Amino acid sequence: MIIRFAILPLFLALNLSMCKKEENVSQSSQKASASSPAPAVVATPVAAASPKIIKPVVDQTAQVIIFCYHRLVDKVRYPGTEITPAAFEAQMKELKDRGITVIPMQDLLAWKRGEKSIPPRCAVVSFDDGWKSQYEVAWPIMKKYGYPFTMFIYTEGVRGGSLGGGEAITWEQLADMRDNGVDIEAHSATHQDLREGHTIMVVNPGGKRARTKLTGPQYEQWVQNEVVGCKQLLEQRLGIKVNCFAVPFGNYNEHVKELARNSGYEAMFTVYGQPITFTSPLDSIGRYAIEANKPKVFDDAVKMIGTSTGGATAVAEVGAKDLATQPADGETVRTALPLIKANLNALGQIEPGSVQMRVSGLGVVPASFDPKSGTVSYQVTQKLHEKSCSVIISAKSQGKKVEAHWTFGIEEGAAGGTTLPVPTPKK
Ligand SMILES: [Zn+2]
Repeated sequence: MIIRFAILPLFLALNLSMCKKEENVSQSSQKASASSPAPAVVATPVAAASPKIIKPVVDQTAQVIIFCYHRLVDKVRYPGTEITPAAFEAQMKELKDRGITVIPMQDLLAWKRGEKSIPPRCAVVSFDDGWKSQYEVAWPIMKKYGYPFTMFIYTEGVRGGSLGGGEAITWEQLADMRDNGVDIEAHSATHQDLREGHTIMVVNPGGKRARTKLTGPQYEQWVQNEVVGCKQLLEQRLGIKVNCFAVPFGNYNEHVKELARNSGYEAMFTVYGQPITFTSPLDSIGRYAIEANKPKVFDDAVKMIGTSTGGATAVAEVGAKDLATQPADGETVRTALPLIKANLNALGQIEPGSVQMRVSGLGVVPASFDPKSGTVSYQVTQKLHEKSCSVIISAKSQGKKVEAHWTFGIEEGAAGGTTLPVPTPKK
């Protein structure tokens, strides 16, 4: 291990690959205890985050699984933290095929606060540590599916930071993601065990690294920067609000939790995957860490929430042609503000409340459905930025989920010249 640390340019990767080993250990030990009744710690009320008024409108039976990914690479060398783009995309597709709705992290939190309803079976996708492949490879895939996601960043690991090498994401890339609606949250400053008295790596003035154990005021100062300083830096550099903290390796204790709560974090995340329910404590939300050599973790997670409505066979795909879509599949339009329409009569008897339209770049849009004509439509009100736009329409028909998707192009430079009448959306 000491030899590995000496190879500085590879520090980021090595650090992570080693880290993951620790994660695995804690993960399995946690799993062993997961089946026993909740220990006293878990029963502690999540004081800062609990809403006083529980609004009964939200579906309290919904369940959410949260995934945590690291690097996307074509050739996996560190299976503990890497996955191929193809395997990743297959998993994203499977979520869609199984009718699991990928929701933004902030919707999960709004649901937990009793403010917003979410579909019965949801997933949240998160990426840890800030790799450039998350920007270059994962993001385009997420866009293709119209999925929102969260980036958990440790600030010294951003390019230019003391742990940010050539494979690290840059602040400019993060700003680009922020501008396009990606949720950016905190994952400490230097990605280490946050508990007092544990061996950590510090960078001394002059850049020299040393292993040490901090205690007392020195530790307090250090951990303050890891938990609070990291949040402040992200908020200041990117002009965002950070309310989520992914604990490195899931290693923390009451003291760290308290520090996080007091500094304004609403939720804390570990890597002990489990379905999240309405009553799951917000200071220990488990995520499924997906690794290249353990595809079963993904399968199991999906199965945990995916069985009630029939699993993989629940979704029937319908060709876009049958829906007389507008714009048509493969068509190129001259406006970035198109009217999107489809006729769902080919899907059979549609349950009116079940129709959902997703537009790439926008996510779920407030489309209107006319049960008489069977037409679902949405006038885009926010200019579409991409040259191609994918639409996914899903609905329930005789208890079965049906889905159609298609893609149309937007002529370059069309953004300025919209001539379409903009109907007043029903509110
Ligand atoms: Zn991490």
